[in-house]
Amino acid sequence: MDRISIEGISATGYHGVFDFEKREGQEFRIDVVLHVDITRAALSDDVADTVDYGAVSQLVVAQIQAGPWDLIEKLGHEIAEAILAAWRSVAAVDVVVHKPQAPIPVPFSDVSICLTRQQSVHTAIIALGANLGDSAATLRSAIAELREHLEVLQISPVAITKPVGGPPEQPDYTNQVIKVRTTLGPHELLELCQSVEANHERTREVRWEARTLDLDLITFDQLRLDEESLTLPHPRAHTRGFVLAPWSWMDADAVLNGQLVSRLAEAAADTKDIIRL
Ligand code: ATP
Ligand code: MG
Ligand code: MG
Repeated sequence: MDRISIEGISATGYHGVFDFEKREGQEFRIDVVLHVDITRAALSDDVADTVDYGAVSQLVVAQIQAGPWDLIEKLGHEIAEAILAAWRSVAAVDVVVHKPQAPIPVPFSDVSICLTRQQSVHTAIIALGANLGDSAATLRSAIAELREHLEVLQISPVAITKPVGGPPEQPDYTNQVIKVRTTLGPHELLELCQSVEANHERTREVRWEARTLDLDLITFDQLRLDEESLTLPHPRAHTRGFVLAPWSWMDADAVLNGQLVSRLAEAAADTKDIIRL
C-alpha cells in the first residue's frame, strides 16, 4: 500500500504522570505514516481524492493539546484513532510520539513510543426498495453509487412485492437486499444511504408513502442500537417478507435476532405475494 508520512509535528502538551508536567507542559513531537491508496489522486491530481496532510497535522496538534493523559502510549492511541475516524480511506496509521523533555534522571536525547492501528471493517445488510419511476434501474444505480464508498459482497435477486402499510393504491415495490463490507461506522453508513436516497429525489411527507428509493440498514455486525435515528437491527425487518425473502435467497444461512431468516420469511404475512425475478 502507498504511504503518506509527516514528521516532526510539534506542540505543547500537558501529558505525564507528574503534576508539574500537567501544570507546565512540554514539547511533544509526532510522526505519522498514513497507509492509503493514492492511485486515484495520482490520476486525478485532485486534493479531494487524497488525504490532506495539512488537515491531518492540525488534527494531531489538537490531540496533543487535548487530554491531558498520563502516558504517551495513550496519546499515540488517541491520535491514531482520531485519524482513522476522520479519514476512512486510511487503512492503517503508524504513530510515533516523541517526548524529548521527559523527566528522565540521566542524559538522553529522546524517548518515543511507536504504534500501528488499523481501520476496523464491518459487515452490514442493507435493504433497498422503490416503487416510483424505473425502480429496477434506480436500485441498480443505487448499488453502483454505494460501491464507490464500500465493498458490495453479495446482491440478492430482485423481488416484486405488494406495498405493506402506508397509503393505499401504491404501485408494487421492487426490493433487493445487499451485504456490504465497510470501514464506515453505523451512523456514517446510514448517512451514506440517506445521501444516495437524496440523489434519487427521495422525499418524506407521509409515512410509508410511495417512494423513488428507500435504503434501510438492517444489521451492522452484531450491533444493537436503540436510537430514534438509528435502530439496529432494523426494528421491523423481522416481520417483513419483502426484506427477509430476498435476503434468504442471497444467503440461505442468514440469521436475524437468533432466527433463520428463511424461517422468518416463511412466517411473514406478505411473503405469499412476493415474485422472484
Ligand atoms: P421503515 O423504517 O418502517 O422501513 P421508512 O424506511 O419509510 O420506514 P424512512 O422515512 O426511510 O422510513 O426513515 C425514517 C427514519 O428512520 C430516518 O430518519 C432514520 O434516521 C430512522 N431509522 C432508524 N433506524 C433505521 C435503520 N435501521 N435504517 C434506516 N433508517 C432508520
Ligand atoms: Mg423502509
Ligand atoms: Mg427508510
